[in-house]
Amino acid sequence: MILIKKNETLKVASVFTVKLLPKDIQQLALFLDVDGTLYEIENSPNLIKPCFKLQKKLQTIRNRLGGALALISGRSLDDLDRIFENDKISVAGNHGAQLRDTLRLKEYQAESGKIKGIAYKISELLNGQKNIEIENKGSNLTVHFRNSTIDRKEINKIMFEIVKYEPKLILLEGKEVLEVKPLSHNKGTAISYYMKTKPFIKRRPIFIGDDISDEDGFETVNKIGGWSVRVGNYKRSKANFFLPNVKSVHEIMEQLLKSR
Ligand SMILES: [Mg+2]
Repeated sequence: MILIKKNETLKVASVFTVKLLPKDIQQLALFLDVDGTLYEIENSPNLIKPCFKLQKKLQTIRNRLGGALALISGRSLDDLDRIFENDKISVAGNHGAQLRDTLRLKEYQAESGKIKGIAYKISELLNGQKNIEIENKGSNLTVHFRNSTIDRKEINKIMFEIVKYEPKLILLEGKEVLEVKPLSHNKGTAISYYMKTKPFIKRRPIFIGDDISDEDGFETVNKIGGWSVRVGNYKRSKANFFLPNVKSVHEIMEQLLKSR
């Protein structure tokens, strides 16, 4: 039995489905996270390889949407280029700190010296811990510990202590990763940026993502009347729709391709 207190509403997200007419396609902008959304999460981020079929599918969707497709990821632009081998799709890397569309590249002025210092500190503090990957991405830093036996609370504490005195940086908790990132940029600011530029402007945004770092994006999309979709099992989300898994994201993409 579910008890609902007075003035409290129970929000239940619905499964995301699309039934669109060709004219509706002209009104849409699609934003997609990468890991856990387009790709299943792997043990190490390097295990994600380029997939020609997926690249082709994204290009077709991009063309169908008149260019209004962007990938919004925590990976760096270099890494995204390695996976997607296509600079025609708009891409936001490092959780919105790097932005690229067909016309320009905008990069947050990274505090790379500070990030380097933090990377050094963490590797010293975690000395001896096996299977922890520290990835310095210039403006951001990711610590991957999926394959490590380290106490999750302990690593959270270590990272929090390092970042808490940095006013321009914030610690973000993801799925078996911790990210140190600029406070001023996130997936929501990336989506806002695209929505102010052609060809995204005046379209209805859809954002599909699977992790805590996608919540800023959901919030942004909700504010402008878009559809926010969270993938997988989650306890709390600002998303107003959900999809059960990566496979179902691909099914939605197939439906978009069929809408003609
Ligand atoms: Mg993800």
